[in-house]
Amino acid sequence: MKIYNTLSKKKEEFIPIEEGKVRMYVCGPTVYNLIHIGNARPMIVFDTVRRYMEHKGYEVNYVSNFTDVDDKIIKKAIEEGVDAGVISKRYIAECKKDMAAMNVKPATTHPLATNEICGMLDMIQTLVDKGYAYRAADGTVYYRTRKFQEYGKLSHKNLDDLQGGNRSLLVSGEDQKEDALDFVLWKPKKEGEPYWESPWCDGRPGWHIECSVMSRRYLGDEIDIHAGGEDLIFPHHENEIAQSEAANGKTFARYWMHNAFLNIDNRKMSKSAGNFFTVRDISEKYDLQVLRFFMLSAHYRSPLNFSGELMEAAKNGYERIVTSVGNLNYLLNNASSVTMSGEEKELLKGMDGLAAKFDEAMDDDFNTADAVSVIFELVKFANTHAEEKSSAAFVGALKEKITELADICGLIVEKEEAILDGDIERLIEERQAARKAKNFARADEIRNELLNKGIVLEDTREGVKWKRA
Ligand code: AMP
Ligand code: ZN
Repeated sequence: MKIYNTLSKKKEEFIPIEEGKVRMYVCGPTVYNLIHIGNARPMIVFDTVRRYMEHKGYEVNYVSNFTDVDDKIIKKAIEEGVDAGVISKRYIAECKKDMAAMNVKPATTHPLATNEICGMLDMIQTLVDKGYAYRAADGTVYYRTRKFQEYGKLSHKNLDDLQGGNRSLLVSGEDQKEDALDFVLWKPKKEGEPYWESPWCDGRPGWHIECSVMSRRYLGDEIDIHAGGEDLIFPHHENEIAQSEAANGKTFARYWMHNAFLNIDNRKMSKSAGNFFTVRDISEKYDLQVLRFFMLSAHYRSPLNFSGELMEAAKNGYERIVTSVGNLNYLLNNASSVTMSGEEKELLKGMDGLAAKFDEAMDDDFNTADAVSVIFELVKFANTHAEEKSSAAFVGALKEKITELADICGLIVEKEEAILDGDIERLIEERQAARKAKNFARADEIRNELLNKGIVLEDTREGVKWKRA
């Protein structure tokens, strides 16, 4: 399995630190609003990387944080007149709902920055003790960037070019810095903002330190993969390397993976530019499986332009797979013979060849665009060879392979059979009878069974009404 490593700018063979295990950290969102579909790109991409590694037999420890203390969260809290924690909790819950709807698996651990302050104080102290950090007069603690000899190795930037060419690196408190390149590890509190006590001043952490600390706490000093969108390469990931490697004295991450941007009209989709659609917006028009399919139809390192036309194409593509699996289910339920004929066995060898092509595409730096084409080939193969007289074993094998490969991509392609109006009415009658007999457990069971099928019951004075959710 080869992974393109931003650090070496090359595809490298993946060799885990510990055999059979993967330690992976993905920088998560700052939670002050609903996530947009640009934020969804790394979630879908790296969830697919994780799923493929699990398919290959690795045990993946997948950590992804929520940044729950930040200027934007505080600003929103002040606007609403509530605590910052109210805002972050609300949007973490919403983000988890969106992730589930996109079939993004929950991480092994989703740490929150505000729960990890102790670890941050600890790492900052180590950096101060080792001479990599210093306290300025107002209590701010800065990282002494020039002391870290390898600074710039991830973003392939030269320190002197940085200083000369990019004055915007001078952030608040710049006059107290020893050097324009130094960045904040800890900053003093401001009136009305959340803060923690520290040896330097009452205040809160800078953004970069949280990922170094959470990665170390949940995955150890050295990890296999660190990932995020390409805007994080500099300065965020460069600063994480400087912090972690100076504090721990070890290589931080072996493979650095970065997804390219999701654009709209060839500009990066972002909250600040205002050119965004939330995942929630998209869910009003499309099944979010279509969004997932759309994201995977491009390689993760290629920019992807969002458009209604491409979403329609994704919808058609996704539905082609769903329809094919639906047909296979029909044939499976109506097959006249069980065991496979010699001819069918021969045909299945072709299917195995296609499955090998899928792995080949994914082994080549997770080429999901090619992997999805292989699923299409398989669908075409199934549509051509599965027929009324096929055996259940043959049809079952085709269906299993398509759903297995789709599942590695996190695509749900087998739809629950739609429940018919007659069945709903029958279950409602049974529920009424159960209630009359005071069998409330059965009544609740029926309500939940219907809910799982998307049917919502409403008890009104005129009787029970139902609607499809
Ligand atoms: P943020 O909440 O801005 O820190 O972003 C969370 C994650 O989404 C990071 O990995 C970003 O790199 C990523 N991200 C933000 N905008 C985009 C975009 N338009 N395309 C791809 N990834 C993005
Ligand atoms: Zn991070």
